[in-house]
Amino acid sequence: MLLQGRLLIDPERIPEPGWVRTEGDVIVEIGEGDPPLDGEMIDAGGPECIICPGFIDAHLHLPQFDVVGCDGQSLMQWLDNIVYPAEMKWADQSVAIRQTLSAYRRMLASGTLGFAGYLTSHHHAVMAATKAAHQIPLRGIVGQVLMDQMAPSELLNQLEARLNRSEKGRLDTSLNPRFALACSERLLAQTGQRFNEGFPFSFKQREAGEMGTRLFLQTHLAETENEVTQVRELYPDDDHYAGVYDRHGLLSENTLLAHCLHLCDAEWDLIAKRDCVVVHCPGANTFLLSGVFDLNTIRERSIRLALGSDIAAGCDLAMPRVARSMIEMAKMRRMTIDPKTHVPSGAEAWTMITRGNADALGFHDMGRLEVGASADLLVLRVPFEVDGYLIDKLIHTWRENYISSRVLRGNSMHS
Ligand SMILES: [Zn+2]
Repeated sequence: MLLQGRLLIDPERIPEPGWVRTEGDVIVEIGEGDPPLDGEMIDAGGPECIICPGFIDAHLHLPQFDVVGCDGQSLMQWLDNIVYPAEMKWADQSVAIRQTLSAYRRMLASGTLGFAGYLTSHHHAVMAATKAAHQIPLRGIVGQVLMDQMAPSELLNQLEARLNRSEKGRLDTSLNPRFALACSERLLAQTGQRFNEGFPFSFKQREAGEMGTRLFLQTHLAETENEVTQVRELYPDDDHYAGVYDRHGLLSENTLLAHCLHLCDAEWDLIAKRDCVVVHCPGANTFLLSGVFDLNTIRERSIRLALGSDIAAGCDLAMPRVARSMIEMAKMRRMTIDPKTHVPSGAEAWTMITRGNADALGFHDMGRLEVGASADLLVLRVPFEVDGYLIDKLIHTWRENYISSRVLRGNSMHS
């Protein structure tokens, strides 16, 4: 494919006019100026367009796309009244497949071409996610939710998590213990053991006792104060919430910890030591009145940070608007809690939703506009002048109709 447009390679700079050539699912050439046309046609874009990498969402729930926006409840009430009934519908395999496909379509429409997410606790949920990825090959890490207590009995499972790796490595499975309250000691211990064994990518290797490649583990941590209190009551011998996970070997550089709103210093130190990724979900935190995220602590300890929509606690799937939500939360924190609060620049936020999130999820060839990177790209057509405020304008005025083409794995896709 040959794409023409301004090249959004570095969000700190005004993008220069240029072109991108892809072959198969890879970017093979990038050039500035007019595209070299030897009787060749431009497949997408034009001189007035912008080419940028597709967005990556580091936290969402595939079975919750149809219950976005059910407001007025605390986290625990919302789980009981909204989330668990929605997830129970996936007991019907055809519903699971249909809703997964619909979620993928909506991600594609929003420009999200890579993600980390949760399924339900049903075994066939992994199959549904993999099957739908054959039609819309998003890059992803998804896992069957693991939980064996404090939830409706229909949703409780044991650790027989289906682990899967799609043949072309586009969709990997992770271990997803929902959160400490929904998991017994036994389940957490089994999950930790499984996590540290790694991904058994071939039966032969497993038989030979070799370690597999590293799995990802996704879970929630300290989203609300009430949850933290309940975890303390359930696990009185642990120093703190993060300690419960750590005791079972769940914290590593491949651990994605969503929220992290109510942590003590010792927990932050532990997360830094284990090199976990913290996934900030500002929209969800505001929606459920969970708390105000502390970006300064993250920066002081050089903790890796990713950004997630957290559909359905977060109501907005569009990553530029999630980025705006992060900036707004930081501004609010600066005005009301701490005048020294760091407010991310537009360029910082844009980097997070592209290259930053890609790196956090191990998609090291994604989220960037460079030769050798995966051809997962967006072509934008914006209604304003391209100047030094381009990224700020994109983030603060973002609309889906800025996207004129989506290139997924080197193929033009219609949303
Ligand atoms: Zn979540």
